[in-house]
Amino acid sequence: MATERTYIMLKPDCVKRGLIGEVIARIERKGYRIIDAKMMRLNEPVLREHYAHLADKPFFPDIVSYMMSGPVLGMIVEGENAVLGMRILMGATKFEEAAAGTIRGDFASSTSENIIHGSDSAENAEIEIKRFFG
Ligand code: UDP
Ligand code: MG
Repeated sequence: MATERTYIMLKPDCVKRGLIGEVIARIERKGYRIIDAKMMRLNEPVLREHYAHLADKPFFPDIVSYMMSGPVLGMIVEGENAVLGMRILMGATKFEEAAAGTIRGDFASSTSENIIHGSDSAENAEIEIKRFFG
C-alpha cells in the first residue's frame, strides 16, 4: 500500500444536478482527503490534450462540447492506493456496466454524461494534476 494522489474532476452534469456534495461525501467517507479543489471552465485546447487518447473516436467532439457546457470541479485526492481506489468508487465507464453502489452506477445518466473523471494510472495522475493545478 502506498499513499497516492489522483486527479478527480466532477463533470458539468454533476455540478448542474447539484451532486457535488453527494459525490464529495462518498470520497471522504472512503477515507480519502481532498487536498486541493477549484471550480473551472475548461477550454477546447486543454480538453483536446486531456482526452487525446480518444481523439479518433466518433464521439470525441461530443465529449469536448459536453465538458465545456458548464463549470467543473477539479480536485487533488490523496489516500492509500487512491488511483485504483477512486476508479473502483467511480464505477465502470460504460453506463450499463457501472455497478449499483458506485458513483456512476448510482448517478450517471449515460456513458458520456457520467458525473466524474478519475486518473487511470499513477503516471497519468501526475500529468493531470500538473495539467489542471500547475
Ligand atoms: N466516453 C463516451 N463514450 C464512450 C467512452 C467514453 O462518451 O464510449 C466519454 C465519457 O465521458 C468518459 C470519457 O469519454 O468518461 C473518457 O473516456 P475514458 O475511456 O477515458 O473513460 P474513463 O477513464 O472516464 O472511465
Ligand atoms: Mg480515462
